[in-house]
Amino acid sequence: MRDPFGRDVTYLRVSVTDRCDFRCVYCMSEDMTFLPKKDVLSLEELDRLCGAFIRLGVRKLRLTGGEPLVRRNIMWLINRLGEHLKSGALDELTVTTNGSQLEKLSEQLYAAGVRRINVSMDTLDPEKFAAITRWGKLDKVLAGLAAAERAGLKIKINAVALKGVNDGEFHDLVAWVGERGYDLTFIEVMPMGDMGEYQRVDQYLPLSMVRAQLQERWTLDEIELNTGGPARYVRIRETGGRLGFITPMTHNFCESCNRVRLTCTGTLYMCLGQEDAADLRAPLRASESDAAVERAILEAIERKPKGHDFIIDRRSHKPAVSRHMSVTGG
Ligand code: SAM
Ligand code: SF4
Repeated sequence: MRDPFGRDVTYLRVSVTDRCDFRCVYCMSEDMTFLPKKDVLSLEELDRLCGAFIRLGVRKLRLTGGEPLVRRNIMWLINRLGEHLKSGALDELTVTTNGSQLEKLSEQLYAAGVRRINVSMDTLDPEKFAAITRWGKLDKVLAGLAAAERAGLKIKINAVALKGVNDGEFHDLVAWVGERGYDLTFIEVMPMGDMGEYQRVDQYLPLSMVRAQLQERWTLDEIELNTGGPARYVRIRETGGRLGFITPMTHNFCESCNRVRLTCTGTLYMCLGQEDAADLRAPLRASESDAAVERAILEAIERKPKGHDFIIDRRSHKPAVSRHMSVTGG
């Protein structure tokens, strides 16, 4: 699949559910309305769709959400997708998770062929963690991380940089992941979905400031690593760990974009920062053959835009993209 700007689309991110057992303040409001069940693709349908993408050239698949590991029977889908690893059709299957289910599922994930996971954790302080996630418990996530390590999964921590919340503990986070051999990526708050009382203009902390702060204590060596996404990476000389910065607000990362995003309703977003989307559920459900859905995928790729228009509007305080991050999974 090659888009009109010559970019090969080889990476599919699939949001398998819009539901979650946390309510992170930058991601969801406390009283979210979730999708009716009938609109959500069954696990069999998700498997079929992923199969179509893999036939068309996707080599890397990431499951996200909502919280992917709270979807009932999710291991069925993960095991099915793992078959494509065995056949060689897929290079990598990964998961982005809040970590709440890792105690239970880490070994099964490894057995299915998953080797790397991203775990979102913004703070090491249990009270702050509870305040950020509203419903989450830090000790549960830490136990999940330990289980993931024991199972052999390689771990990357994702931390959203939040002004006035976790900006006092960036050094501690770097040291902590360094001791454990995890990688770490900082993320800037993105303007997605209405958050109720929380205003992102207040939370927004440019990662240039995070980087400047870290450089007071750590040596950050530039490394050439382009994953086709919005992250830029450095190596921390003192720990040997890799540190990423995802800066959609201050950087343009679109020229090397290799990814598209599928929601749990079968909607394909060609860009995280744009509203244009293609419905794949109708062609999927219309016929038992995959010809129509493959055609719809290829047509959608033809419409992949050159770049995005994220902007936090300081006057209206309206998000630039109205859907929540939990729809497309970041
Ligand atoms: N529930 C899983 C998790 O938290 O990792 C997967 C889905 S979550 C939507 C994916 C990532 O998006 C998480 O790392 C989360 O911190 C990030 N995220 C959510 N809302 C965001 C926002 N408004 N700006 C930046 N990152 C956001
Ligand atoms: Fe749930 Fe992940 Fe969103 Fe937090 S960031 S509310 S864990 S989907």
